[in-house]
Amino acid sequence: MIRTGLGQDLHRLKRGRPFLLGGVSIPAPKGELGHSDGDLLAHAVTDAVLGAAGLGDIGEFFPPSDPAWKNADSMELLRAAFSRVKEAGWRLVNLDCVIICESPKILPHRQAIRDSLASALEVSSEKIFLKGKTAESMGPVGKGRAIEALALCLLEKDGE
Ligand code: MG
Repeated sequence: MIRTGLGQDLHRLKRGRPFLLGGVSIPAPKGELGHSDGDLLAHAVTDAVLGAAGLGDIGEFFPPSDPAWKNADSMELLRAAFSRVKEAGWRLVNLDCVIICESPKILPHRQAIRDSLASALEVSSEKIFLKGKTAESMGPVGKGRAIEALALCLLEKDGE
């Protein structure tokens, strides 16, 4: 049996916040605002794997209204969500992601992000891919006020 899952997230960018993508800290003048550590790629991937397994979404598992998740390590949330996915018998076939932001460039950090996500999802990094796009200076993302992430995954498990 195979299932696809789609995740998306958008966060505001603010000066002085850490800029985190998939657990990798990237030097940048602005970082993602969020109740957690703001790592929107980890959030999009969490929603993709939970959605593929039909288990729920990140907001149900880790409500932003719950103070327990304030400044939470989003990669820990991803690991916790993926452990539920694994318990349901699913394995990750592959994950493909898009980051949309004006700066910084994603390419120099791509392999580190792939390795970090691969470690959390217990697969080799060749099953994880990632690319950066810009918004052509249009809209909040294009003006550097926000960043967006998309994640698409394929899960498989035995049975039909
Ligand atoms: Mg988020």
